[in-house]
Amino acid sequence: MTFEQLQLIPPILKALAKENYKQPTPIQEQAIPSVLAGRDLFGCAQTGTGKTAAFLLPIIQLLSTQRDLTKGKRVIRSLILTPTRELAIQISDNIKSYGRFTNLRSAVIVGGVPQRAQEQALEEGMDILIATPGRLIDLMNQGFVDLTRVQILVLDEADRMLDMGFIHDMRRIIAKLPAKRQTLFFSATMPPEITSLVDLLLTNPMKIEI
Ligand code: AMP
Repeated sequence: MTFEQLQLIPPILKALAKENYKQPTPIQEQAIPSVLAGRDLFGCAQTGTGKTAAFLLPIIQLLSTQRDLTKGKRVIRSLILTPTRELAIQISDNIKSYGRFTNLRSAVIVGGVPQRAQEQALEEGMDILIATPGRLIDLMNQGFVDLTRVQILVLDEADRMLDMGFIHDMRRIIAKLPAKRQTLFFSATMPPEITSLVDLLLTNPMKIEI
């Protein structure tokens, strides 16, 4: 299997060549066509499997090929929630690499750093927001964040977010999103709380276990 066979667009193929990725990993082979087709996804996968590119590549493709209906200011069309700032920054770096030949803009909102630059990024607008739940809630409460145009939600390492006590923040954030959206859910483990969250948030998902 090649990335070409997964129907990825030339700007993404070019970026993958630059990364020296020769072929998709198993989770990428299974996830990419299904996410491109608009389906919800439940991925039970550890890091190291290539799961980040499995969700980022189709998101970059879907968003960069969409006709811009907003004329001018960018709106948050994809929200990626992660448990830690390190993971958020890593995802952001990956978006910059995989999306280098597209014109998407992304930003990171995490705790432990001053808020001002993040407020400014939100005011300027972005296509993809990568965030940890706590700081995102803070900025939402202050009226800086509009999530009403989100089309694709990603919950990455959902089990770790639960372990870190983020469930209430997650629920409050998700409540602000449009009900009609695509949801991609990743967890390395499947405790009962994860199973019930999956049942609640996903509609007829593609299920991948790696
Ligand atoms: P992840 O599981 O998302 O944390 O990815 C693990 C590592 O594999 C990262 O360093 C990626 O850059 C790398 N990677 C992801 N997909 C591929 C691929 N198809 N070929 C080679 N390396 C990859």
